[in-house]
Amino acid sequence: MAKKKVQIKKKIQTKKKVQIKKKVQAKQTKETKFIGQVTKIRQTEPRTVIEWPRAMTHVHTYGLLSPFFEGLRKGELRATLCPNNKCPEKRLWIPPRAHCPDCHTEMIWKTLPNPVIGKIYTFTQVVYAGIGIELSTPYWQVDVELPGLATIPKSYLLRGEPYIGMKVKAEFRTKKPTNTILDYYWVPYQK
Ligand SMILES: [Zn+2]
Repeated sequence: MAKKKVQIKKKIQTKKKVQIKKKVQAKQTKETKFIGQVTKIRQTEPRTVIEWPRAMTHVHTYGLLSPFFEGLRKGELRATLCPNNKCPEKRLWIPPRAHCPDCHTEMIWKTLPNPVIGKIYTFTQVVYAGIGIELSTPYWQVDVELPGLATIPKSYLLRGEPYIGMKVKAEFRTKKPTNTILDYYWVPYQK
């Protein structure tokens, strides 16, 4: 009996030793590899510049302003309104505000009846757009006055040449919407 006990003990010890040895070996055989894409050297003089491609998805929430973008998808221009009776600002806001800038009450939504007709307050031609602008250049950026609004929203004129006081009509990109502010724009309005 005493002999057997000794044998078992020895076996356990041997097994443990082997296991430790294997683990160490596994780590040693793994070699760290570069799994990226090799960059391109654009220039070396006067200093090295490389082209390092990056792909990024920016996850952006519209939060309480989501109804504005839902409206654009349906061909509706929606504005926010302060529901506080004591608030001095009774006009509508576009771009929408989640909370009233004057009294901080949570805003309510109002849909502007179609057709939405406005007047060009001012305009500028964008020739060199910054990175991230998803409109072909040159394009007309227009600030449009709308009745009942506290703001003069900025957008773009899809076609035609703007002038101050020009009547324009809101149109919507409901087919293949971008789900951004670019989904509404202005076109010249003729009765
Ligand atoms: Zn208010």
